[in-house]
Amino acid sequence: MSISKGIALITGSAQGIGRSIAVQLARDGFDIALNDLPDQNAKLELVATDIESLGRQVCVVPADVTVEKQVKEMVDDAVIKLGGLDVMVANAGIVEVSSLGSSTLESWDRTFSVNARGPYLCYKYAAMQMIEQGRGGRIIGASSILGKMGFPYNSAYTASKFAVRGLTQAAAVELGQYGITVNAYAPGAIQTPMTKTMMDEFGKANYERIIKDPCCRKWVMSVSRTRWQTLLRY
Ligand code: NAP
Repeated sequence: MSISKGIALITGSAQGIGRSIAVQLARDGFDIALNDLPDQNAKLELVATDIESLGRQVCVVPADVTVEKQVKEMVDDAVIKLGGLDVMVANAGIVEVSSLGSSTLESWDRTFSVNARGPYLCYKYAAMQMIEQGRGGRIIGASSILGKMGFPYNSAYTASKFAVRGLTQAAAVELGQYGITVNAYAPGAIQTPMTKTMMDEFGKANYERIIKDPCCRKWVMSVSRTRWQTLLRY
């Protein structure tokens, strides 16, 4: 095992983008704390086995990122098991597709709870730990291309991803003095279980309408037609 480059905690890493980030950071020499919801434990253990085979230390810290006590315990647990925290990737997120008129307050609250409150709590407890350690750190949150422009049938999701940008910018200017950088990533469409949910809800038939709608044309054009067709087949 080579010398560790640091300790990284990735939320929502049982699958999708979070899993890929965790495996790539392990390949890059980081020891890894894997988080997802407690009912995803079996999947987390499989990811842990893959990371162990790369010769890195790994631990599983299940928690619901919307619950403050669980986020605090998740960070504490990772620190006890791996010896500190250098990178926090607040990746966990959900999407629920509906028109503004048919959307519900419950769906709005659920989306904001996971996509905005989750990163806020992860940033907070990671920052407290990193400041205490006194060796700087990296905090990274999942925004989206929908955190940079609106998209129909995704009001709550779009608003929550704009919130991640605001949180990230405020935290970055505040935490720079401690050597902690704070950034967000804003992917376009990536083929994951989340995208499958979105595509299932949009339905194949909506593709032609979506691509012609002027308000989402710019976003759609950023994803090639071939890629959309691949996503719709997924
Ligand atoms: P994904 O495949 O659905 O994976 C997200 C993971 O987060 C799932 O395992 C999910 O568990 C978990 N999660 C949900 N709620 C949680 C909670 N309260 N606490 C802890 N974990 C929780 O999604 P993805 O496509 O990899 O997306 C990862 C991030 O990138 C998200 O924030 C997403 O908004 C963002 N993003 C994705 C895309 C894309 O095209 N895929 C584009 C832009 C941005 P369950 O499956 O049990 O809910």
